[in-house]
Amino acid sequence: MAAYTGTGDADATGEEPDGTPKGPDGGLRRDEAVRAAVEQGLVGPLSPIVGLLDITGIRASAAALHAAFDAVTAPGTPVLHAFAVKATPLVPVLRLLRREGIGAEVASPGELALARAAGVPPSRTVLDSPAKTPAELREALALGIAVNADNPQELYRLDALVQSASTRSPIGIRVNPQVGGGSIGALSTATATSKFGVALRDEGAREWVVRAYLDRPWLTRLHAHSGSQGMPLELMARAVAETYGLAEEINERAGRRQIDTLDIGGGLPVNFGSDTHTPTYEEYARLLAATVPGLFDGRYGLVTEFGRSLLAKHGVVLARVEYAKSAGGRAIAVTHAGVQVAARTVYAPRSWPLRVAAYDTKGRPKAGPDVVQDVAGPACFAGDLLAEERSMPLLEQGDYAAALDTGAYYFAHHYAYNSLARPGIYGFGPDKAGGVRFAVVRTPQTLDEIVAESGGAHAESLTGTF
Ligand SMILES: *Cc1c(COP(=O)(O)O)cnc(C)c1O
Repeated sequence: MAAYTGTGDADATGEEPDGTPKGPDGGLRRDEAVRAAVEQGLVGPLSPIVGLLDITGIRASAAALHAAFDAVTAPGTPVLHAFAVKATPLVPVLRLLRREGIGAEVASPGELALARAAGVPPSRTVLDSPAKTPAELREALALGIAVNADNPQELYRLDALVQSASTRSPIGIRVNPQVGGGSIGALSTATATSKFGVALRDEGAREWVVRAYLDRPWLTRLHAHSGSQGMPLELMARAVAETYGLAEEINERAGRRQIDTLDIGGGLPVNFGSDTHTPTYEEYARLLAATVPGLFDGRYGLVTEFGRSLLAKHGVVLARVEYAKSAGGRAIAVTHAGVQVAARTVYAPRSWPLRVAAYDTKGRPKAGPDVVQDVAGPACFAGDLLAEERSMPLLEQGDYAAALDTGAYYFAHHYAYNSLARPGIYGFGPDKAGGVRFAVVRTPQTLDEIVAESGGAHAESLTGTF
C-alpha cells in the first residue's frame, strides 16, 4: 500500500463551499500539518503521540452534506442534519459543526452533556439510546429534545411522562426494517435479530406499530438507522424505503399527516483505502431520491444522523517511532499508537484496516523502497499492531507513523489499556502567512488524572475497611 496517495478530496469541485478556490487537498493539507506539528513541537520525544483534525476538511464535508440534500429536497423542506456524537465526542468539534449548521444525535447522558456544552440547542438535538432510563426520558422531554423510542416498554414509559407534563419534544418510534446486514456484523443494525428498534417483519409487529401511532396523536416521527460502515448503499436506501412505506401507511390510516418527519439515520460508509471521499453524500442523496421520491416532495421533514462520514477522513494519529527492530526476519516499528487509539483495528484488523503513512524525523513524507514491516503499538500484548506485514518505506527510530482516516471512532475513543494516556488533540487550519496553525481540542491526559481516575483518592479503601 502506498504510504500516501494524495488523490482528490471531499468535493472535487476545485472550490471551497463559498466559491473561493480550494487550498491543497486533504492529503497535502495533512502533509503540511504533520510537518508543522513536528516543527512546532506538538509531537516529539516528550509527547510521542498526538491526534490532528483538519478543520478545512470537516467544514467541506459539512457543506457537502447540506448541498447533497438541498439538491434533492423540495424548497422549504425542514432538514436537520444531526451529527452522531458517538463518532467524535469532542466539544469543540460539536461546536464547529454547530456553526456549520449541523445538530447532534446523542445516545447517552454523557453525549447529551457534550452537545449541551457545545451549545447545540434542544431543537437541534435527537436522543436515540436503546437503554434510556426514566430520568433521561424525563429530562429530554423537559428540554424539548426529540426522542425516538426504541421499543414498546420505552413507549409505555413515554405514555406516562407525556400525560404528566407537557412537552415540545417531537417523539417517534425507531423501527428495524430487517432488510439485512452489511459486511461488518457488529455494525449492522437491520438484521433479523438486531437489538435496535421494533423489528418490523416479526409477527404482528407492523400492526402493533401502526396502532401505537393511531392511539397516540403525539407520535409524529418515524426513525430507522440501518447500519454503519460496511453497508451497501442500496441496502441503506431499501431500509429508508421500507420506513417511508410504513409512514405512508400510518398516515393513510390516520386520515391525516400524523407523521410529519422521517429520521433516516446515518451510516454512510467511508473509504479507508485512499484519500478519495467515496461514496459521497451526493451519490447517497441521489440514490434515495431515485428509490424513494416521495421522501423529498416536501410532505415530510427530514432528520439525518451521519457520524463517520463527516469526520473520519479529517483525522490523523501521529506517533513517533520509539524503536525500530526486527524479529524472525520481520521489520517492526514500535510506535506510540496502538490499541489505545485504534481499538477496532487492533482487535478486528480484517474489518478495520487503516492506512499508515511514513514521515521522517522532520515530519516530511518518507521516500524509499517499500519494505514489508509491522507497525506496532506500545501496549503489552502481541496483537497490538496498527498494521501487519505492510509494504511501505522503512520506518526508523525517530520517524513518525501516521494512522490515517482516524477522525471518527478512533482517537476520540480512548481505550485505557496499560493506563496509556489519552493523547492531546489539535485542530489545524491555515494561518495568515500560508503556514499551519493549531488549536487545542483536548489536552493530553496527565499522570495525575490517570491516578485520580484509577481510584487514587481511595488508595486505603480496601486495606482500611475490611
Ligand atoms: C451510530 C449511529 C449513527 C451514526 O452512524 P455512522 O455510521 O457514524 O454514520 C446514527 N444513528 C444511530 C442511531 C447510531 O447508532
